Amino acid sequence: MLTAAPPTTRTSSPTTTTTTTTTMMSARRRTMSMGSSCAFVRATKSRGTRGSAGGRRSAPSTVRVVSEGTGRFIVGGNWKCNGTRASVKELVQTLNKNVPQIEKNCDVFCCPTFLHLPYVKENLDSRFSVCAQNSWVEADLVDPEHHYDSTTGAFTGEISAEMLEDLEVPFVLLGHSERRTLLGETDEIVGKKVAHARYHGLSVVVCIGESLEERENGTTFDVIFKQLKAVAKEIDDREHSSWGSSVVIAYEPIWAIGTGKVATPEQVQEVHSKIRNWLAENVSEDVAKATRIQYGGSVNASNCADLAKLSDIDGFLVGGASLNGDDFAAICNASSVHYKAVGR
Ligand code: PEP
Repeated sequence: MLTAAPPTTRTSSPTTTTTTTTTMMSARRRTMSMGSSCAFVRATKSRGTRGSAGGRRSAPSTVRVVSEGTGRFIVGGNWKCNGTRASVKELVQTLNKNVPQIEKNCDVFCCPTFLHLPYVKENLDSRFSVCAQNSWVEADLVDPEHHYDSTTGAFTGEISAEMLEDLEVPFVLLGHSERRTLLGETDEIVGKKVAHARYHGLSVVVCIGESLEERENGTTFDVIFKQLKAVAKEIDDREHSSWGSSVVIAYEPIWAIGTGKVATPEQVQEVHSKIRNWLAENVSEDVAKATRIQYGGSVNASNCADLAKLSDIDGFLVGGASLNGDDFAAICNASSVHYKAVGR
């Protein structure tokens, strides 16, 4: 079973990120401002060329390779508020049947509802980790230690990170856009939730992403960096050192979730590479390399391979298509497409 195991890191390989030409210019400026000792952005490569080390191929079309993550591919299935006892049993059976077909080079987790979580934990093959869809934190709590360790008690209807830890649930999904938009979760609350879950040893998948309006008015990166900042601010130095293995970022543009409208590979790659640059500049280069950045938004068995080819896409967070066990297994196997495309 996948717990909070660190991803495989390859210290010997070059770090490369893909980005658009305009992004490249700002990446160069950033490189200069970070000083010559900064190795995060090492080299630019022209479209369609092979890298000088490791035989990397650049991503297709308009993007150029500059840096990339080093973590294991990771795919999660967000079951949302779906399932009956019968349908969950059937899904678990289908997933278990698919285990021999799922590539070993990929981490996989499933997020059932809280009600179904104990059953799934008990019956789903240990090839899949279980992941809760949320955990509670008291929004008003001020805690200079950033642990917010007061989340059991009079909070009717909520589930705490302590309970997930007690049940040995290794992962929790935080800040999903449905919780942000429908339930009013702010960046600050999400940051506190991440800190508290990390304090209790949970690995977290933090969802970030812009609305259609934000994309159209050109504020995508303002929104995303603000969401990231709220998380980085709450994770103390001790936690920063393990961020790469324990905090997965899921970039999920809201306009692509459940709409059937997938972001283009170029759009996703541009955002992921900027997220990685932001981590390098605001957390650390090691964290930037090791952090897995998933894409989520109408991923399915047919479109996953094209997305997986891009160097900064380290996996997927899948909603609708994860309710079909066969499709979900196929999406997990996009890991091999990814490794092949980036030359590892
Ligand atoms: C999600 O809810 O995290 C998601 C990505 O949903 P879908 O795949 O259905 O767009």
